[in-house]
Amino acid sequence: MRQLYIDGEWVDADAAAGIEVISPVTGETLDTVPDATATDVDAAVEAATRAQTELEAMTAFERAAVLEEVTDYFVDHEDEMAELITLEEGKPLRESYDETKYVIESSADYGHDAIRLFGDVVPSEHRGRFAYTQREPYGPAAVITPWNFPLEIAGGSIYGAIASGNPVVFKPAEEAPLTGFHIARAFEQSSLPNGAFNFITGAGETGAELVGHRDIRLIAFTGSTAVGQEIGKVAAERSATVLLEMGGKDPILVFDDADVELAARAVVEGSNWNAGQVCCGTERVIATAGIHDDLVEEIVAQTEALTVGDPRDEGTDVGPMISERIQETAVSQLDDAVDQGARLRSGGSRDGLFFEPAVLDRVSPEMTIAREETFGPVTPVIEVADPDEAIAIANDTRYGLQAAVFTESLSLAHEAAGRLQAGGVFVNETNNYWERLLPFGGYRQSGTGGRYGSKWHLEAMTQVKGVMMNYDHD
Ligand code: ADP
Repeated sequence: MRQLYIDGEWVDADAAAGIEVISPVTGETLDTVPDATATDVDAAVEAATRAQTELEAMTAFERAAVLEEVTDYFVDHEDEMAELITLEEGKPLRESYDETKYVIESSADYGHDAIRLFGDVVPSEHRGRFAYTQREPYGPAAVITPWNFPLEIAGGSIYGAIASGNPVVFKPAEEAPLTGFHIARAFEQSSLPNGAFNFITGAGETGAELVGHRDIRLIAFTGSTAVGQEIGKVAAERSATVLLEMGGKDPILVFDDADVELAARAVVEGSNWNAGQVCCGTERVIATAGIHDDLVEEIVAQTEALTVGDPRDEGTDVGPMISERIQETAVSQLDDAVDQGARLRSGGSRDGLFFEPAVLDRVSPEMTIAREETFGPVTPVIEVADPDEAIAIANDTRYGLQAAVFTESLSLAHEAAGRLQAGGVFVNETNNYWERLLPFGGYRQSGTGGRYGSKWHLEAMTQVKGVMMNYDHD
């Protein structure tokens, strides 16, 4: 059984039980990781708590330098890590390299943003007084991540926390925890003080122990809305700060004047990236009547051109889904939609965890597939009369992560960007899109507590202190 990384050392877990990590690609057991207990969680949080003073005393420049060292490790181990991500998570190797490259290229940003985490000098209402603000860390942070981007999601949350002075206890998802060992080794070989980064493995119960720990002051969670909301409640009981990035039901709106081929490409990419298992994947297509039929034809043609297969093969576009549990949600929504009158235009067959990308039209906004997160390679298309109806349906959801609109009309594009209730809106680009220096996060039940990415990330992970100095007290 693997070990845990606590207080700068690899240690045996208290946990007698382990979790087998099974590859969705080969079906083989890749490794066994500890199912960390409350005792393990305690040891990790205590180490983080002890490291607070030393981490906070470092200058932002010194913390930024640590992130550069961590990035060096990723550069040196990129091939190994990309292959591991594919093996433990199932995404095509090409997408795993997108993930490693993104993390390598963007990790230094967090350090750069941290050294520019300026305060304000505030005009005092009294003479002879100097008032200013400064941003300070919250304290020990729990970073809890899902399996679908084992490096990228973890990387962002951990970097942001460390760069702004919050010691971390990181717990990856039980389905794909092995990439986390590389993250831990990257910090181990860096000059970060012992205890400022700790790594434990385990399932939901370990996560619950961690977020419930009395000394955890900041929780950065990415995962399902149900678990995020549960964490929100636990955190509220002791006023811990949360940054929650949860589910989505992201739409792509396509209006009559759009470029059909471009819109279809965006839809097919957004629906099938990582076999549709992306929080900001394309979960709904809403097309106005004048373009609907052509768009569906084009989506079907492009979807049928995708190659489903072994994600280690260069030509593969769609690998296996992570688990039967996740696949079952997509399958039952698909079956339910067809029962309710949706038309299956393409795909939908299964072979173990491999799911042939499906396209459905005649989907109505009341169907479960148009309301609940599907998290699979399924494209449901809803036909509407006009842009007004499209925007109304797009907004009729409890989610609001990202949205996209395809139109050549400048005024329609601006109107949609303003009216769509989502944390990010992209014009003539897929909704499954990251722009490095834009904030990432959701409206409504897709997210709360601030935004990931760029300066917003650092702001969300720090608190503001107001200081006043009376220099004229004779
Ligand atoms: P998914 O449904 O995509 O697997 P989850 O929200 O269940 O996503 O899991 C995301 C992460 O949250 C995982 O690391 C998981 O172990 C953790 N987790 C699950 N339940 C809890 C909980 N009650 N408290 C804290 N973390 C949890």
